[in-house]
Amino acid sequence: GAGPGDPGLITVKARDLVASCDVLVYDNLVNRDFLRQTPEGCEQIDVGKKPGRHTVEQEKICKMLVEKAKSGKQVVRLKGGDPFVFGRCAEEMTVLDDAGIPYEIVPGVTAALGCAAYAGIPLTHRDYGSSISFLTGHEDVEKEALQLDFGKFAAAGGTICVYMGMGKLEEIVEKLLAGGLSEDRPAAVVSHGTLPTQRKVISALGDLVPNVRDAGLTAPAVIFAGNAVGL
Ligand code: SAH
Repeated sequence: GAGPGDPGLITVKARDLVASCDVLVYDNLVNRDFLRQTPEGCEQIDVGKKPGRHTVEQEKICKMLVEKAKSGKQVVRLKGGDPFVFGRCAEEMTVLDDAGIPYEIVPGVTAALGCAAYAGIPLTHRDYGSSISFLTGHEDVEKEALQLDFGKFAAAGGTICVYMGMGKLEEIVEKLLAGGLSEDRPAAVVSHGTLPTQRKVISALGDLVPNVRDAGLTAPAVIFAGNAVGL
């Protein structure tokens, strides 16, 4: 895990691995600063999405990891945030297991936690929020509508953090309202969290969509809702 953006948020352990690897395979959301921290001669492979170019498919990434490791190289697979949070890490682990390649997982600060901290948004409070849910607003490109029952999470009363939700912000807010959250429930959107370009909108849930649109916030962003958020 590379952390959410600010390069200072990578763990010491992950930073040491980046500084000593033979091959660095990195995603789009990984801060480019890390590319300057690899040893000389390290092969750096970008497998992220770029405008006008398709993502290197998951299968190809897995194959590449196996090939590089089998040739005796020390490979770092650097992912934004934490690798186990919406990071497709399980798929890569399965392939490495099948190929008999040993690896370890190094956790990272996930985007919701980085965004919350840098935007001053508490996620829990003794009186207002006793649970946190991480949801995805984008389950599968093949699926048109949101399948996840946002209403149930709303009813649970804790703090909701939605990843990959900007493309469906309106629908997500509608579902949270339909699930029982009131129009005046505190909500927020933090985009480009922990980076110098970070922007945030804190708003009542009922006004979140126009406020975010007026402010012109863009992905990557995390959407928050819950009483603790208002503090
Ligand atoms: N594994 C990552 C999440 C990958 S999914 C993690 O643990 O953070 C990609 C989503 O993460 C984006 O759509 C966005 O919702 C969120 N995200 C990643 N970096 C972000 C950032 N700097 N600011 C706000 N949201 C971010």
